[in-house]
Amino acid sequence: MEPHKGIVKVEGTARPPDPARLAGVIRDLLSALGEDPEREGLQRTPARVAEMLQEVLAGYWMDPADLINGAIFEVEDNDLVLVRDIEFYSMCEHHLLPFYGRAHVAYIPNGRIIGLSKIPRVVELFARRLQVQERMTRQIADFLEVVLHPQGVAVIVEAAHLCAMMRGVRKSHARMVTQALTGIFRTDPRHRNELLAHLRRPPEKL
Ligand code: ZN
Repeated sequence: MEPHKGIVKVEGTARPPDPARLAGVIRDLLSALGEDPEREGLQRTPARVAEMLQEVLAGYWMDPADLINGAIFEVEDNDLVLVRDIEFYSMCEHHLLPFYGRAHVAYIPNGRIIGLSKIPRVVELFARRLQVQERMTRQIADFLEVVLHPQGVAVIVEAAHLCAMMRGVRKSHARMVTQALTGIFRTDPRHRNELLAHLRRPPEKL
């Protein structure tokens, strides 16, 4: 059973991995690097890394149906909903190194909203897996599109990529920005401009 496959297309399996198998692979990796996996500092490393991977990649085994159950509400006012500065951590699928930053998620309802606390969970669902930033941005937008049928969704993601920072040109301050717009955010510049005006303001200190 892969319940999320019915909601929006995502990669991977719904089954959590076998921790012993993961630990074995990490032990082999350490040996291939010329290390001694039995030396004191590394003895528990394979088990730790296996546990860590299951946590940072937990999006693969989250059930999206759990996210929406009981969290969709009918509304009469269809005003802009914006959750900005959602901190996220993901893993670049090309280099298996983290990329991390902030996501801003907005939509204009069409009679349905999702509980506010669920939006950061939707970001986690797609961040906690092997990813590329462009696809993650699009998947968050598609998910809200499918679940809410809103008038429009806008997702803007700003991130720093360790694979760019640690390797090659080392432009460590480079940030990548991606966006996915649907519906009236795409067709009506007034809605787009209203959103951008919100995002231009620095976050309020609360
Ligand atoms: Zn990378």
